[in-house]
Amino acid sequence: MSTNQNTDTIYGINPKTGDRLDPGFPAADAARVDALVADAVAAYQRYRATSGPDRADLLREIAMQIEALGDELITVCDAETALGPVRIASERGRTVNQLRMFADLVEEGSWVDARIDTAIPDRKPLPKPDIRRMLAPVGPVVVFGASNFPLAFSVAGGDSASALAAGNPVIVKAHGSHPGTSALVGRAVSAAVAQCGLPAGVFAVVHGPGSVVGSALVKHPGVRAVGFTGSRGGGRALMDLAAARKAPIPVYAEMGSINPLIVLPHAVAHRGVAIAEGLAGSVCLGVGQFCTNPGLILAVEPAGSEAAPADSVSSGGAAANPGTAGATAAFVSRLAATMEAQGPGVMLNRSIASTYCEMVARFASAHGVVTHTGARSQDAGGCAPSQPDGAGATQAAGAGPDGYATVHPALFSVSADVFVQSPLLAQEVFGPATLVVRCADATDVTRCLAVIGGNLTATFHGDDEDFAGYADLVRVVEQTVGRVIFNGFPTGVEVCASMTHGGPYPASASEFHTSVGTGAILRFARPVSYQNCPPPLLPAEPQDANPRGITRIVNGAYSRDPVA
Ligand code: NAP
Repeated sequence: MSTNQNTDTIYGINPKTGDRLDPGFPAADAARVDALVADAVAAYQRYRATSGPDRADLLREIAMQIEALGDELITVCDAETALGPVRIASERGRTVNQLRMFADLVEEGSWVDARIDTAIPDRKPLPKPDIRRMLAPVGPVVVFGASNFPLAFSVAGGDSASALAAGNPVIVKAHGSHPGTSALVGRAVSAAVAQCGLPAGVFAVVHGPGSVVGSALVKHPGVRAVGFTGSRGGGRALMDLAAARKAPIPVYAEMGSINPLIVLPHAVAHRGVAIAEGLAGSVCLGVGQFCTNPGLILAVEPAGSEAAPADSVSSGGAAANPGTAGATAAFVSRLAATMEAQGPGVMLNRSIASTYCEMVARFASAHGVVTHTGARSQDAGGCAPSQPDGAGATQAAGAGPDGYATVHPALFSVSADVFVQSPLLAQEVFGPATLVVRCADATDVTRCLAVIGGNLTATFHGDDEDFAGYADLVRVVEQTVGRVIFNGFPTGVEVCASMTHGGPYPASASEFHTSVGTGAILRFARPVSYQNCPPPLLPAEPQDANPRGITRIVNGAYSRDPVA
């Protein structure tokens, strides 16, 4: 569990103080899990038959019910996560916009990808049958909310919205870090389900330890797919559980990512300071608690650059771009100074803060690694792992001056040769930390990329002079990630039709899918073909008359017309 508490009752913990937040929420037992899945299976038969416009009504009603929670949602969520009212209000906006985006998608209806190949009875040597295909719901989906997005990737977040939009009942395993927020949003969703006259089994929230309640749900034969956002360990455990079932099911897990950011030589020489300042903001945004946080900076030294000795680089910072000589050193120096200036921040929970501090300490003591800022992360009070959750920071032995889950930004650098030989340094440090790897050329960058595996994103900072010589590197990088960003920063994921938020393993369990944007619905639908189906038995979408007016592929051509 992410919080240390009685497994019969789940309480939120204020990450600023360590105080327990009432009320507690009873953890589900095995009988409750069985009952919830049975309800979802029963509701599925009714819900799968609803039309796109019916599901759009539900999604819009959910959005309205969440908005109607008003300030109570902000207050409860802030107490549980310390994310702050401004960020939480903005995340609430993203959450309801996602719900409305999926409402628009299923109301329009073409997402079902209907394809019609009409019969050719006199084809030789064999007649061609009439075949019609469309995407259909899969059945009850279990969603594991993420700690770092208590609204947009939680109870009514993108996984739940896309699964409901596709016609599947949803059971959410609430994250133990924000049970009160989960309960509030869960009530809003259930109110919307009732308001739309749908069976209650269409949606449920359940509390309890992942290792007990979450595992039981994933193993339950009535469950047909899983959506997950969180740690690599958690995601992988659920993938293995699902694969070991008698009937395996897909787990769409979005897991850790270090999001390499590649700074090319012309850019580092001519605008390295500006890049460093923007990068510091991205690394420290939200106390670094984003899956798109840039955790690895591959900085290519300009030709002729006098690379400063690693230990000569201080956090004092150079104010101006130095040109070619010492460009990478100046970049690192400015990055360190700007990160340090961001100051400490409160993480989502004690466990995440402790893991962050442990990882910072391991990086700091690793062979060949230079620490530019972040020494305080190792001795900050928030990093003392001995303090029990819920005790209250002021009462607990071991609490330091910085508070219960408070951490500091950390910046390290290392040579490419050391990096490729240190598996530790390729691990995600979830929080406001990053590692600069000093690369001589594109070959060094490629060597580094080869040891880190799949990622959600990769970012290039480069000028025209750079890209002329590094085009091949772009072709290499695009094979390792779901999204390539140019002269920007990976934090901040636009929710739209063209977004890919996923990537080759271990960034996600399926590199063929995205968990953000309208494409996320495709995780929770499967193709069904109807061969020589009597017309009255066809669903609406592939019928000759095209009653939904959707775009279809008819005998190889896109069309909205009825079949003649
Ligand atoms: P997590 O530990 O993976 O937990 C996410 C959800 O999965 C929780 O509901 C958890 O339940 C459940 N779970 C975890 N392991 C499980 C298992 N073996 N069997 C069944 N259920 C399981 O993620 P987190 O609590 O959000 O954060 C922990 C760490 O994950 C962070 O320190 C960070 O390294 C990483 N993280 C990464 C991202 C990302 O987007 N890349 C986001 C958030 C966190 P319980 O808590 O009840 O066990």
